[in-house]
Amino acid sequence: MASQNKIPQATAKRLPLYYRFLNNLHLQGKSRVSSKELSEAVKVDSATIRRDFSYFGALGKKGYGYNVEYLLGFFRKTLDQDETTKVALIGVGNLGTAFLHYNFTKNNNTKIEMAFDLDPNKIGTEAGGVKIYSIDEMEDHLTDVQAAILTVPGAVAQNIAERLVASGITGILNFTPARITVPDNVRVHHIDLSVELQSLIYFMKHYPND
Ligand code: ATP
Repeated sequence: MASQNKIPQATAKRLPLYYRFLNNLHLQGKSRVSSKELSEAVKVDSATIRRDFSYFGALGKKGYGYNVEYLLGFFRKTLDQDETTKVALIGVGNLGTAFLHYNFTKNNNTKIEMAFDLDPNKIGTEAGGVKIYSIDEMEDHLTDVQAAILTVPGAVAQNIAERLVASGITGILNFTPARITVPDNVRVHHIDLSVELQSLIYFMKHYPND
């Protein structure tokens, strides 16, 4: 992802959104798209879209818009779409089980390859076609895995994160309420669903028109 170093983080975060929409357009046989059309679909204002796209060397032409195939080619390369990133999931509870059943590859080349749990009733079984191994054997299986999804109870999150890092994992999607500490070379994205829901409701009540 060397080329992505030059793209601002805020732009990089919107890439998957653009990618998904453009991929759908492409599947529908459309070869071009205007920034207005894009803007309405992805809910990003067209000035931001134009600025984002200028980082990719995609300069829309007036009255023509953007070339869908060119943009898709760029996004595929930038988002490493041609190379599957292997992901492990730790903690096959309610949320973890839902993720194992969710078809991530619909939109990108990310695949949960394996899952780990403590519960002897879950170990050795499968969920959504993904094998569940014992947490005690985690290190033996993580040889070719780059990222992990953490859906364990918060109390064990830090310890498991440390084991993941020691196994060479460089990205963690943390769904536990615990804030985890990792070395600088490891990226953690924290998604606390109850905080997100609370925050949505707060904004609905206090900023209904913004
Ligand atoms: P469930 O209803 O299946 O218990 P849950 O999401 O409500 O799901 P949690 O207590 O949040 O349950 O635990 C999530 C999952 O993490 C469970 O499957 C549990 O067995 C597993 N788990 C708990 N501790 C560990 C651990 N140290 N290592 C690996 N997995 C663990």
